[in-house]
Amino acid sequence: MSVALVTETLRTLHRIHRQLADLTEQLAAGPRTVAVRTKQVEAAEAKKTAAHDDVKKAKVSADQKQLQLKSAETKIRDLQGKLNACKTNREYQTLTEQIAADTMATKVLEDEILEALERVDALKPTVPAAEGEVAAAKKLLDEAKARVAAETSRLEGEVGRVRMELETVERELPDDARDKYARIVKQKGADGMAPLEGQSCGGCFQQITGNMVSDLMLGKIAACRSCGRLLYVPESSR
Ligand SMILES: [Zn+2]
Repeated sequence: MSVALVTETLRTLHRIHRQLADLTEQLAAGPRTVAVRTKQVEAAEAKKTAAHDDVKKAKVSADQKQLQLKSAETKIRDLQGKLNACKTNREYQTLTEQIAADTMATKVLEDEILEALERVDALKPTVPAAEGEVAAAKKLLDEAKARVAAETSRLEGEVGRVRMELETVERELPDDARDKYARIVKQKGADGMAPLEGQSCGGCFQQITGNMVSDLMLGKIAACRSCGRLLYVPESSR
């Protein structure tokens, strides 16, 4: 193997590693989308439950007031029945006042019942609206799941293909370069390599020595002293 080939091999390896990193990122994005959609379904379902509960509470409140009204009306009828049995004017007067006060209270209760029933009517449409939101969120989730499943199998196929390409190209590295390469890639992945940019490392942008630039130009292997990336000469400068 000629020394000039090392830089070329590293350049290819860097491209493959970046491609792999990109594919890995795309693979990770799928489950994230599904997780977001799942959360949206859960939120819509919670909203639906809350809407159901609100209607239920409003109904219970209206029912309770109606029961109160019934018992108040029964009490008034009882009092009215006692009017004939009054022995004194004073007694009659007290009872009449009591009936008037209770009748006033039932009027208030009747108004409250009307308000409670109006509240039930106002709340009712929130339930089908919330159910619609749940259905829409579920549809989006199902679509996301189907899309991610298809994407995942395509991406996994792509990863397999790129990994094989990587192994093939890695075999082209000379033995002394392979160890350095394996160590840095294990540590940094695609960030284990960087192109030379002028007189600087294309990864951390620290300037490198003239000797290193010459070495690289001769096709020798060189690592940035600042970040440890293996440097290679980019295609455009050859
Ligand atoms: Zn560097």
